[in-house]
Amino acid sequence: MANVNLVPPKVGRRSFLKMASLGAVATLGVSASGVTREASKEEIKNPYPGSKFAKSICTACSVGCGIVAEVQNGVWVRQEVAQDHPVSAGGHCCKGSDMIDMVRSQVRLKYPMVKENGKWRRISYDEALDKIAAQLKIYREKNPEQVMFLGSAKVSNEQSYYISKFSAMFGTNNLDHQARI
Ligand code: SF4
Repeated sequence: MANVNLVPPKVGRRSFLKMASLGAVATLGVSASGVTREASKEEIKNPYPGSKFAKSICTACSVGCGIVAEVQNGVWVRQEVAQDHPVSAGGHCCKGSDMIDMVRSQVRLKYPMVKENGKWRRISYDEALDKIAAQLKIYREKNPEQVMFLGSAKVSNEQSYYISKFSAMFGTNNLDHQARI
């Protein structure tokens, strides 16, 4: 296992220990600096009476980190990290920790839409797929190099294989992954 230096390079050992002890005090809810305090009873009161907790996974990538969704009357109201999840072990990246807002977003796309004469119109998945297929056919006949295929952080190895096969069959080497790190 690689060694990890937890002390920032510009912080001396003495300063670091001082900061660490302050952090420990703050964690206990005792204010050493006047910045932290214990939560009031009102603050820790559950604002979602009758809510239930459901274990789920983040869908933003194929790592599949564990999240606990608090649900009230069928609506996802709060999110917590699944501390006992075998993959993420209580960790999340920033996308996963905001998964609830991706689901509740007012601008979330919930179905296929097409823009016609400057206006968006809802269409069925069949219509959307037909439109995409027709356009791809035109591109392929004219020049397949006009098209680029992108993989996804959500797909498995096998799905990645199919995407690369499809790209080759289509006639282009314009193929990339979707890493965002
Ligand atoms: S997006 Fe982040 S939190 Fe979600 S599964 Fe991937 S690594 Fe985990």
